[in-house]
Amino acid sequence: MEQQAVRIVVVGGGTAGWLSACWLAARVPGATITLVESPDVATIGVGEGTWPTMRRTLQAIGLDEAEFLTACDASFKQGSRFIGWATGAPGDSYYHPFTPPVDADARALVRGWRDAAGDQAFAPAVSVQPRICDLDLAPRQRAMSGYAGALNYAYHLDAAKLAALLARHGVDKLCVQHVRAHVTGVEADTAGDLRAVLTREQGAIAGDLFIDCTGHAALLIDGHFGVPFIDRGDVLFNDRALAVQVPVDPASPIRSQTDATAHDAGWIWDIGLPTRRGVGCVYSSAFIEDDAAAATLARYLGRDPADLDARALRFRSGHRAEFWKRNCVAIGLSAGFLEPLEASAIVLIELSLGALIDGFPADRAAMDIQARRFNALFRYRWDRIVEFLKLHYVLSRRDQRYWRAYRDPASIPDRLNELLMLWRHQPPSIADFPAVDEIFPAASYQYVLYGMGHSAPPPGPVAVDADAAVRAMAQAAQRGRALAASLPTNRAYLDALHAAAPRRALETL
Ligand SMILES: Cc1cc2nc3c(=O)[nH]c(=O)nc-3n(C[C@H](O)[C@H](O)[C@H](O)COP(=O)(O)OP(=O)(O)OC[C@H]3O[C@@H](n4cnc5c(N)ncnc54)[C@H](O)[C@@H]3O)c2cc1C
Repeated sequence: MEQQAVRIVVVGGGTAGWLSACWLAARVPGATITLVESPDVATIGVGEGTWPTMRRTLQAIGLDEAEFLTACDASFKQGSRFIGWATGAPGDSYYHPFTPPVDADARALVRGWRDAAGDQAFAPAVSVQPRICDLDLAPRQRAMSGYAGALNYAYHLDAAKLAALLARHGVDKLCVQHVRAHVTGVEADTAGDLRAVLTREQGAIAGDLFIDCTGHAALLIDGHFGVPFIDRGDVLFNDRALAVQVPVDPASPIRSQTDATAHDAGWIWDIGLPTRRGVGCVYSSAFIEDDAAAATLARYLGRDPADLDARALRFRSGHRAEFWKRNCVAIGLSAGFLEPLEASAIVLIELSLGALIDGFPADRAAMDIQARRFNALFRYRWDRIVEFLKLHYVLSRRDQRYWRAYRDPASIPDRLNELLMLWRHQPPSIADFPAVDEIFPAASYQYVLYGMGHSAPPPGPVAVDADAAVRAMAQAAQRGRALAASLPTNRAYLDALHAAAPRRALETL
């Protein structure tokens, strides 16, 4: 395959399709990128929480941050807050912020927290971010250059508006060819490589590399190649969601984090955007009826269930056995999906694109090698995400049938069981998560483990410098006070940004 002449066909126009088309167009110059999108099949339309990688992604495709924030009705996300997960008692909540703990060896950090922080919870003792989140503050000042932050952050956004912005940007600025046509079949060569997708409206669309972004349809990776789906429902039980959009008072505070509130058979996400909240009830149909889940969501919103008008979504937690098959790479929901806790789907899209571009095959022979490497890397990543999501449930002391089932040892992956044994004696550390690009590093495990009330390990045989960690925590607390006094609220930041949008548009003319 001649790199200069490569024809890439992206099938699907949701978040995965448009991120793929834009990123490939920006990073593989000389390639022709065609995105084929069915006029009949809607995008999933959810996916409002992102990961800090999104800043790098938007920058890589040449989007201005202010333009993105205004066009997508977006707000800042600085992490997640888990409410009611440990016991469900009043006041039971903890943060998993994006900014890592102060720089200290894991043992020293946890010992320092235990020795010096008194009753203070782990996250606010070791990171300034929970304090900033409690105050609904933005992670950056308006004067900072785009994508820079005083603290690490991602975004909450309107998924439909993101796809529309990426489509405009892809077509107008990155020369992506946008074809509205329904794919009805494929044409393959004798060796088994795809040669073209066949469409109802535009006939055959030929390519050298095909990106399957057809969502749950998984048209190429499953429909054509029949790559098996590995169901992880034995570990992660949730399989349904009810989603609603709730208008907000234009002057109301905008939260800095995704709130995830546990209920008897699942949890509720609550995401604040400038003009509305996105709220959804995630649950397992094996443990709660749809009507009862709707009543749970209605109760959370203080509404009558009859007025809920929620969108019902069904999903299976799992992923493909292979993600790259011959000259086809599955990205997005076609590759798999694990329930939305910790918003790991869009970040997997970004990581898939990063890996595809880093190992972009110079010719057809190299493609098989790159595909093997890609498949091994992403199998590692899906396994780690399954374990991390499971961690949130196995540490709960809630006593409903759903939560007890989650703690059933038979449902806990072996590797996680082993780590939980180790973490009685030592904190999660880099030695447990040695890959260069872990989606959830040791810090994330520390936040969840100690947030859920797991005891800090007793002093062991290894000497640790807890004093240095205590000093770093004191410095962080000082910085937290300074940031709390200087950062604008999310509402003030975003209102000012929206007010300046017409002026910015004139300046770019
Ligand atoms: C309840 C829920 C909550 C979620 N929350 C989050 C979150 O907070 N954060 C996060 O990162 N992710 C989240 N996700 C996942 C996220 O929504 C998806 O990963 C993301 O939207 C990408 O979807 P997609 O582009 O793969 O698929 P889709 O949006 O479904 O797009 C599929 C595309 O394929 C096209 N297509 C299908 N069939 C054909 C055909 N025959 N011919 C041509 N085109 C075709 C469709 O027209 C469409 O354009 C959530 C998912 C669910 C179910």
